[in-house]
Amino acid sequence: MPQKSLTIALVGNPNSGKTTTFNNITGTRQKVGNWPGVTVEKKEGIVNKYGYNLKIIDLPGTYSLTPFSMEEIITRDFVLEHCPDVVIDIIDASNLERSLYLATQLREIDCKVLFALNMADVAKARGIKINAKKLSELLDLPVVFTVGNKNKGIDELLKKAVELAESDIDTVGKRNVRYNKDVEKSISELCSLLQDRMQGSIPYNLRWTAIKLLENDKIVKERVLQKAGDQGQAILEEILSQRKYLAQRFNDDPEIVMTDERYGFIAGTIKEVVTTSARKRVDISRNIDLVLTNRFLGFPIFIFFIWAMFQLTFSVGAYPMGWLDSGINWLSGSLNTLLPDSLFKDLLLNGIIAGIGSVIVFLPNILILFFFIALFEDTGYMSRAAFLMDRIMHLIGLHGKSFIPMLMGFGCNVPAVMATRTLESEKDRILTILIIPFMSCSAKLPIYIILAGTFFGARAGTVIFCIYLIGGIVAIITGRLFRSVLLRGADAPFVMELPPYRIPMLKSLLIHMWDRGKIFLKKMGGVILVGSVIVWTLSAFPRDIRYSRDYAGEIKKVEASYEARISNANGPEKQELEKRLDAAITKISRVQKSEKVEKSFMGRIGKALAPLFAPIGIDWRGSVALLTGFVAKEIVVSTMGILYLAKEEGSNNLKNALISSNMTPLSALAMMVFVLLYLPCLATVAAIRQETASFKWTIFSITYNTSLAWVVAFCLYHGGKIMGFS
Ligand code: GDP
Ligand code: MG
Repeated sequence: MPQKSLTIALVGNPNSGKTTTFNNITGTRQKVGNWPGVTVEKKEGIVNKYGYNLKIIDLPGTYSLTPFSMEEIITRDFVLEHCPDVVIDIIDASNLERSLYLATQLREIDCKVLFALNMADVAKARGIKINAKKLSELLDLPVVFTVGNKNKGIDELLKKAVELAESDIDTVGKRNVRYNKDVEKSISELCSLLQDRMQGSIPYNLRWTAIKLLENDKIVKERVLQKAGDQGQAILEEILSQRKYLAQRFNDDPEIVMTDERYGFIAGTIKEVVTTSARKRVDISRNIDLVLTNRFLGFPIFIFFIWAMFQLTFSVGAYPMGWLDSGINWLSGSLNTLLPDSLFKDLLLNGIIAGIGSVIVFLPNILILFFFIALFEDTGYMSRAAFLMDRIMHLIGLHGKSFIPMLMGFGCNVPAVMATRTLESEKDRILTILIIPFMSCSAKLPIYIILAGTFFGARAGTVIFCIYLIGGIVAIITGRLFRSVLLRGADAPFVMELPPYRIPMLKSLLIHMWDRGKIFLKKMGGVILVGSVIVWTLSAFPRDIRYSRDYAGEIKKVEASYEARISNANGPEKQELEKRLDAAITKISRVQKSEKVEKSFMGRIGKALAPLFAPIGIDWRGSVALLTGFVAKEIVVSTMGILYLAKEEGSNNLKNALISSNMTPLSALAMMVFVLLYLPCLATVAAIRQETASFKWTIFSITYNTSLAWVVAFCLYHGGKIMGFS
């Protein structure tokens, strides 16, 4: 039987419990994506209930429907253009006054609205009593009490929503805020003009359109003028004259007058429906804040939490990471013995499995990190952290909220870039994304360890610390520069809100964690797959390489020379000989491998790039290693291992090989700085593309980082030379 379907949209202030309600209704049957063209998260879910196919949509949290922020525009557009069958306004009952502003605006649009008075438990604990029946009468819409985090009242809410959708009550014109006489007069004059001039082509509800025009709402104005055709001029003039009249009458902009009126309406409503009994409850949140945002204690506690987060992320994450790692090793090991040698096998093992495997092992870390982030968010601590860091972040030209993504960047840039979603202002988001790559991610650490360890011995630790420091300094300079040149001005002023502390729900923590983890898996899996295949192809072709030496012959010779000795020996001596034979063969095949790479497309590219890198003291091998670093920074060390001819296993000998190459401490330093600053890995680039929703910014980020890296490395290298270092 084909089912009827209904669209139900959830709106409400940030933190009012929309997502909790959404999760309660849809469970795991939900789809997370973006609103078209922007990076605001869109959640949708479908449930079958009460004989309907219910499509539930979690709209972005907003305080009003004035089109100032992206969230407000998205929410308003959705309600206006898609006309959901029912809009559920999730209201924080413990904060009725603030929530009702959005509610009054919803009332003005003719759609079926239903109130969920959520946080009913908090309101009760604070001694706030709301007369739901009266509220429902005054606003002329159904009201349901809910406690989102305990899943209370949700069923009733849904049932009421369906009832409301089925009912054919007339919403038009019944539930309007009455403004004062002068405003009402302007509204009705504008209304009749609109009707006169445009007849049926008014895009929205008439009264609402008039109100918005009086408020000088750009989007509505554009839309109306577009529909009005040659009547536009007359309408514009009328708007202007009405606005002028009101401005003179009230000595203030009409939009301000009307906002005041709405607040007046709200204040009146509150008086009618809310009774506050004496505050019995000590405000726990405020007491916690006395400690956590304390001028002296706040900061060390914050540092401790962050430290604990990273500590747990990496220590707890190490176990599943190990399991995944051995799982992948087992897989490629068994495939290696199972499959006959072929090009396909090479691609599968050395391209796909090696490439994806190197990234997927980070999944546990990432999930754990996201779990903590969700924990900080859901308890309300995140806002405190932002509050504490605010002053420091202003050095960069950013708000405290950008701190968390930047901090995550030290672990991995990919989730860091994704975490910028929590920032409201688009400019802040882009600026933060541009800075994140300078937070040296953990995959770069092995490179520093090898280079600093080889060339700086006992001072390696200090050198590595300085590298991180350079990253920080570059981030600050970049931030200030971009803030004053590219992403100037109008950073949306925002109030650092400190919502009350809440005990988080495990279910919602897990959903948050998995939502983000899923994106990581999907996108990064795809990108890494493609990247690995490309790198493999470049280093595996052309196949018909003319080697300078007869490696196969050499291996045979070595085998022959050991054969007799091995068959004569026995016991431990035999084992020892076999080991040596293995090592000798490995050595030859490594030399062969390195020649193969040198003559592959990859090697040719490296040699072609060499002139670019020569001025910063990096030879063609280093160039290739850096190039492969685009796929993932982890690969740089392994490429260096192959190319610098690690004669035997173990990093000690890569050190020897590096020393005997023409690398010097100075060029090693230049290379480290280059690695620190140059283009981020493919996965990060994909994340940047996804989160900025712009190729322009992505290309800009890559170009800026790489040219900056080159310039800084160049100055360092030649500056050092001039000062007599080598
Ligand atoms: P959104 O920003 O509107 O999507 O809000 P969320 O759904 O993310 O909820 C914010 C926080 O409020 C979460 O920590 C929820 O667990 C919590 N929460 C949601 N509903 C209730 C409720 O009815 N009572 C209490 N005490 N907490 C709630
Ligand atoms: Mg939400």
